[in-house]
Amino acid sequence: MAGVNLKHVTKKYEGKVVAVADFNLDIEDKEFIIFVGPSGCGKTTTLRMIAGLEEITEGEIYIDGRLVNDVQPKDRDIAMVFQNYALYPHMTVFENMAYSLKLKKIPKNEIKASVYEAAKMLEIEYLLDRKPKALSGGQRQRVALGRAMVRQPKVFLMDEPLSNLDAKLRGQMRTKIIKLHQDLQTTFIYVTHDQIEAMTMGTRIVVMKDGYIQQVDTPQTLYEKPDNLFVAGFIGSPQMNFREVSVDKFGEEVYLKFGKNSIKLPCEKARKLEALGYMGKEVVVGIRPENILDGQTCPDPHTACVVEAGVEVVEMLGSETLLHVKIEGTDFVARVNPKKQVKAGDVIKLALDADKVHIFDKE
Ligand code: ADP
Ligand code: MG
Repeated sequence: MAGVNLKHVTKKYEGKVVAVADFNLDIEDKEFIIFVGPSGCGKTTTLRMIAGLEEITEGEIYIDGRLVNDVQPKDRDIAMVFQNYALYPHMTVFENMAYSLKLKKIPKNEIKASVYEAAKMLEIEYLLDRKPKALSGGQRQRVALGRAMVRQPKVFLMDEPLSNLDAKLRGQMRTKIIKLHQDLQTTFIYVTHDQIEAMTMGTRIVVMKDGYIQQVDTPQTLYEKPDNLFVAGFIGSPQMNFREVSVDKFGEEVYLKFGKNSIKLPCEKARKLEALGYMGKEVVVGIRPENILDGQTCPDPHTACVVEAGVEVVEMLGSETLLHVKIEGTDFVARVNPKKQVKAGDVIKLALDADKVHIFDKE
């Protein structure tokens, strides 16, 4: 059990490629924190620096309050689970899981007890005599987790541990790992490029891009209050809809105008934009698919902007329907009630909920 602190951590490969830039983060003891971002944003590098597998160019890393910059990986009290499992092919599952304890010269009966306990939690007791080649991908992943667990590390580091599994198994293992975190009560640092994995597993999420932290927040705050256009577009599925608009003032009211449409902003949002000097400027408006309402049944025309939308594709998902539409030449996705009768080619009325729009600087 331990917190992890990163202070001004920077990694430059070969003195020039900046993989991680001035990374500052305090991870609390027992936290389940996620690093998420597109490929190449520096997730693995950060994790490897915490593990001690990669030298830190600048900055400091503390584990459980101890500066570990010069501490060997084996002395950091961490365990890492890799995407490719990295099991020893010539050893049985039992031997794979027991290996690190054997190196530590732990007595045989204690090793056996630890391996059986971990195997039981992971429901792989019946696999202990098999070799890795006789296991499915999901089973191998469990063994890799088990091998980390028996070491009773202070911190678990996981680098995309589920990305080689098929979708169904990935879902099951997601739940298994959440449960494991609850049972083990240990700090988990989990890397993924998959925002759904990030949103469902972590108590806190670090969104990264090009080596820089973009935002650190709970899943709900990231979803409801993204700090910038990148985070807004990255978190959420289907993606938030974006459209460039101009900010105009008529009397006391502030409008976001695009084509013949205008969204009248609620008072608080309007005053904020005004204070920031946005009048007459172009901004990007963002609206989540569930905040585009049915224009026919829209509750309050004062807080919504009713627009004409050309329906291009209707995606029926059972519990909801996604409408892919064009509004003033821009593609939008709206999430509507599955009972709504609509087909491709229809022109319908949709309402953009002005209370729920996000406003971003153009990048
Ligand atoms: P992620 O895990 O988010 O996909 P990485 O941490 O692997 O990202 O990589 C971050 C950046 O550092 C990328 O631009 C990558 O090309 C670069 N990089 C990673 N490892 C090395 C290395 N050993 N040598 C040089 N550049 C590297
Ligand atoms: Mg990676």
